[in-house]
Amino acid sequence: MPTYDDQNIFARILRGEIPNDTVAETDHTLAFNDITPQAPVHVLAIPKGAYVDYADFHARAPEAEIADFHRTCAAICADRGLTENGFRAITNAGAHGVQEVPHFHLHLIGGRPLGRMLARPEA
Ligand code: 5GP
Repeated sequence: MPTYDDQNIFARILRGEIPNDTVAETDHTLAFNDITPQAPVHVLAIPKGAYVDYADFHARAPEAEIADFHRTCAAICADRGLTENGFRAITNAGAHGVQEVPHFHLHLIGGRPLGRMLARPEA
């Protein structure tokens, strides 16, 4: 597990050094619109604690933080109309997952048909 880099862009957003378009905020969780949305709804949800990725968060975070994070994500899905027609929740991790920002985040994406999850490899 790589060590947490506190200069990553989401750490800077959490410290208020960079603005964000907040969608929801609790004691443990912040959610904001992606700066480069891939669909009509593209929200990023992040825990306020310093966790590198999915595995790190779910291994180390107290249960209250984990529960708060997922309940906040579910509430956003309902609030933004994603539960009606469906949506995708994605988390990228590490090099193979092509994770750009090394602070755990969940992409909540919807508002249009999204196609298959992964492109099929060329035959
Ligand atoms: P990853 O590839 O790490 O799963 O996704 C990182 C996401 O963060 C990308 O979708 C990218 O558009 C988004 N992002 C990168 N920098 C910023 C920023 O400064 N503000 C916001 N709101 N999103 C960002």
